Amino acid sequence: MPAKKIPHVLRAQDFDRRRIDDLFDSANMLEQKGSDCAKGKTLVFYACQPSTRTRLSFCIGWERLGGTAHAVSSSDSSQEKGETIEDTVLSLAKIGADVIVLRHPDEDAIFRVALLSPVPIINGGSGKEQHPTQALLDVYTIHRAHKDIDDLSIALVGDLKFGRTTNSLAYLLTKYRGVKLYLVSPEHLRIKGDLLHYLHESGVQVEETADLDRIIGQVDVVYQTRAQKEYTTDPNAHAGLAPYVIDRRVAERMKKGAIILHPLPRNQELSREIDALPQQKYLDQMYYGRLIRMALLQEILR
Ligand code: ASP
Repeated sequence: MPAKKIPHVLRAQDFDRRRIDDLFDSANMLEQKGSDCAKGKTLVFYACQPSTRTRLSFCIGWERLGGTAHAVSSSDSSQEKGETIEDTVLSLAKIGADVIVLRHPDEDAIFRVALLSPVPIINGGSGKEQHPTQALLDVYTIHRAHKDIDDLSIALVGDLKFGRTTNSLAYLLTKYRGVKLYLVSPEHLRIKGDLLHYLHESGVQVEETADLDRIIGQVDVVYQTRAQKEYTTDPNAHAGLAPYVIDRRVAERMKKGAIILHPLPRNQELSREIDALPQQKYLDQMYYGRLIRMALLQEILR
């Protein structure tokens, strides 16, 4: 008999529409009824980069499912003594982790540990490449606001070159029909060519533009992002982002019912004036994030 496949979660494009819809249903159910499916089981969130929302929504979500969660950061682990991430993951599994969520600045690390881990590995953010569970919570938030994601116009705004959340969200949006995607950034911070190619191949209507003002009144969702300064030492790398601030004036030009998302943390690109407006959904995103991660964890435990 072939060995049982371990249900790792590595990339957004590995989800299909049916699975995403099932996760939405489970998240809705969990919101109503809860579950203790993780009872007696342990989750470890291992962070080699800072994390607030992802770490806590996994840990609190797991505890709400009845399990025990531990968050460890590389700065106070044996990685400081030169241990490899492979050895760390093997150790966590041996000691008793039933699921490991890994956040790592090196895009490759998640795939390397998935090759050898005896327990499921979830990508909690891999360098500049991917953040698949963020994308799940992004589409779940859009679903909660608009119900149908098919045929929506969605703008991804800001640092699309270094941003992993916009990558994963773009990949996930290929699973929907009729989505029109506006990729809004300065020329030098455009989305990677291979992802652009994938979007075209998948039949997504894509428009790259530097002009947020022109398209703001046409979209159902604005997905704002911060400058990912940690990935470059070039002080000018993020020049040109100044016009992409979302404030009340911009929000008021949006279509009726349109929403603003942001993976957070925010810097100056998203004014606090928006927090009290109906377009604001980035605070709800965190709540939906815990629910959809619980749904994913429940699926993995099955
Ligand atoms: N929290 C998100 C991430 O880990 C977004 C960000 O940091 O800008 O990628």
